[in-house]
Amino acid sequence: MALRNILKYGDPTLRQKCYEVTIFNESLGILLDDMKDTMFAADGVGLAAPQVGIPKRLCVVCVDGETMYELINPVIVKTSGTQRGQEGCLSIPGEHAIVERPKTVWVEAKDRYGKPCSYKVSDLTAVAFCHEIDHLDGTLFIDKTVDKK
Ligand SMILES: [Zn+2]
Repeated sequence: MALRNILKYGDPTLRQKCYEVTIFNESLGILLDDMKDTMFAADGVGLAAPQVGIPKRLCVVCVDGETMYELINPVIVKTSGTQRGQEGCLSIPGEHAIVERPKTVWVEAKDRYGKPCSYKVSDLTAVAFCHEIDHLDGTLFIDKTVDKK
């Protein structure tokens, strides 16, 4: 296990559009494992690769401490409903704001071996999926807050 350094707001990598993952090898698995360790160590519920300085389209999500999602090249293919809730981000410590997100999202992605996977998730897990997938396009929750002054 290895903890990676989490980049903070202002680092240009956080604003980059990330590259598709094309090689599913052992180092991808190590990166995913390190990202999980880093997320749990930081008490987060999700972490995207650009947050650890890797501009590639992958993220990990775990909102309940048990169900772990590894999303590689994730795409939101359908959404339904809306919900509003307070979000924060490991890259923007101390900031919280209300963001509107879909209530349910359908996502297609690959697993660490390159196998296609699809997910339908709702509520907090849907928020986390959207937040992390936004990171892959350089979008941060503060860009989307609905209570901006
Ligand atoms: Zn974030």
